[in-house]
Amino acid sequence: MTIHDLLKNAEAKLAATSDSARLDAEVLLAHAIGKPRAFVFSHRDDEIAENDETAFRALLDRRIAGEPIAYLLGEREFWSLPLRVTADTLIPRPDTERLVEVALKVIDTNDASRIADLGTGTGAIAIAIAKERPGCHVTATDVHPATLAVAKDNARALDVDNVAFVLSDWTAAIGDLQFDLVVSNPPYVAAGDAALADLRYEPRRALESGADGLDDLRRIVQEVRHIVALGGSLLLEHGADQADAVQALLATSGWMNIRTWNDYAGHARVTGGTLA
Ligand code: GLN
Repeated sequence: MTIHDLLKNAEAKLAATSDSARLDAEVLLAHAIGKPRAFVFSHRDDEIAENDETAFRALLDRRIAGEPIAYLLGEREFWSLPLRVTADTLIPRPDTERLVEVALKVIDTNDASRIADLGTGTGAIAIAIAKERPGCHVTATDVHPATLAVAKDNARALDVDNVAFVLSDWTAAIGDLQFDLVVSNPPYVAAGDAALADLRYEPRRALESGADGLDDLRRIVQEVRHIVALGGSLLLEHGADQADAVQALLATSGWMNIRTWNDYAGHARVTGGTLA
């Protein structure tokens, strides 16, 4: 079959389950033949090799079953950086770029600040900050060795050498290190939340956090007090309806200058404070 016909059939099949059927078809076909997406526009009448067609059909079936494009491609862009994603990592979200933006405001450009990203996943936040602030020393943690390995690979692939990786259950293995800024996008979805059905391909442990979604945020707010230098800050991503709860947790643990930032969809997304 020609690229034109393959795309037409694929789009029709995807239409029932995806609201970006045409784009999905183009991206998956380009991936199957190992070419950039532009190639499929300029080669509509080309026939593709049989093994490529088989690979394309397999990707298509997985997409129709609901698997996110990022897992099918093994990659997602975050902060304009291509990151490898695997079944061991959450897919980085555009919302989380807001956390990076707020963090960059806290860190002076020329500063040799010490920054920690707890629960780094793909390494998205740590790597984006490290790229923007090459003078900073970033420590990225994750509790799962397989996940931390992906983050390390991403840092290496992107030539980032100012991130150190530590296998740690939140702050448990941080030891005596002190930081000027700690950031985290922890799991914050409530157990049993209907949204989890749509997120079924992503690691549950990276999403779900107790009955109210706040179990990990509660731990982090408490524990991070011991690893933040005086005058240092903590910035946390959270669910759109959790800003009040996170502000209350921070206040109870003695954090000052507490404030919340919205994401670009207008949802409360990042809350932080400083330790005086
Ligand atoms: N923002 C994600 C979602 O709801 C949740 C990420 C998280 O729990 N850290 O899709």
